[in-house]
Amino acid sequence: MAADARRMIAELRELAELTGDERGAQRLAWTDTWARAREWERGLLAELPVEVDVDEAGNLWATLEGRSPDTLVIGSHIDSVPNGGWLDGCLGVLSALEVLRSAAADGPPPLTVKLVDWADEEGARFGLSLLGSMAAAGQHDPDFVRGLRDAGGVTAADALAAHGVDVNRMGESRSRLTGVVGYIELHIEQGPVLEARDLPLGVVTGTYGTERWAARFTGQAAHSGSTPMDQRRDALSAAARLALEVRELARTRGGVGTVGRIDAEPGIPTAVAGVATALVDQRHVEAEALRDLHERAENASRTIAEDEHVEVEWSPLFRVSPIHFDADMVAAASAIVADLQGVDVRLPSGPLHDAARVAEAGVPTVMLFVRSKRGLSHTREEDTDEADLELALTALERLVRGELDRRG
Ligand SMILES: [Zn+2]
Repeated sequence: MAADARRMIAELRELAELTGDERGAQRLAWTDTWARAREWERGLLAELPVEVDVDEAGNLWATLEGRSPDTLVIGSHIDSVPNGGWLDGCLGVLSALEVLRSAAADGPPPLTVKLVDWADEEGARFGLSLLGSMAAAGQHDPDFVRGLRDAGGVTAADALAAHGVDVNRMGESRSRLTGVVGYIELHIEQGPVLEARDLPLGVVTGTYGTERWAARFTGQAAHSGSTPMDQRRDALSAAARLALEVRELARTRGGVGTVGRIDAEPGIPTAVAGVATALVDQRHVEAEALRDLHERAENASRTIAEDEHVEVEWSPLFRVSPIHFDADMVAAASAIVADLQGVDVRLPSGPLHDAARVAEAGVPTVMLFVRSKRGLSHTREEDTDEADLELALTALERLVRGELDRRG
């Protein structure tokens, strides 16, 4: 029996109807709407010969016992951002459900197969993304999580407790990755790369590493009218030059580079800015190239500072290493994608995904991306053609069956 794309699409629409409104999906983790989505999901799983339970971190698991305890995991997340789209996360869960249905129909598979629905991938309420998968990957920090508060002042500890999760025990979900020999996740691309290439599917090779820093330029605040151009120590001009340099570095050396914000003081039209802080975000899929991007930006800022007669100081905000998915699984997925669409496309992911955390925990991992219309996500306008969704489900099923045969 094969996975049924029509049924998957109908269920995706049913979920959108059940847990969204005219502004989009409203399945924020640790809310009643999210719990309703989970209830509905459990209803679908109840029709299968699987065991369903929730781990200490709130991740939902459905286990189809195989001939071996070695386990292949497929999944994603059913939570959404506020006013989210109809596919982000839930496509990965409902496609996994279809594959599970089709595998179950054939009797016990060679490996145990589990569907996972990670808790709180989006971090929309407490600002910490990948909460459930981080815990399962052994990266849970109870003290940090306990202190988080939502916009209404509710603590994460209380909100999670209301859904049966004890912040102190979340780390125990680590045992769930024991015996897991592979993890596969299908997700919408959430970017414009596949659409630009006019192709529905891509294989994700890993996730970008990030260097995020604040570069603070200090010059001299002075009157805009009375200070001659050649006697200025203009911090904002220096920061602006750095922004262009960061863009140029990514254009010429690969990766992506963004200055998303510059704060200037005193921040009025009648004064040369004495202080300007630029937020620099650089990402690359190779650790060495990422380090090089950052070093070049920092060096450029020193040259600019000298030129503009200002000082510059860098402080780190957030850093994460690039993560590489499993070479064998990437090769297997690429062969399937090439067969289905005639061309093999491999691309890194800009956004982090639960799959990155699973890979960091040492589980061989791969992701499939399906094209997003206009590259849009985290908005109700998020969309993918049904024909693409159908092809994506076919690719996922083939990949899962291939891994079961290869490792069984
Ligand atoms: Zn997602």
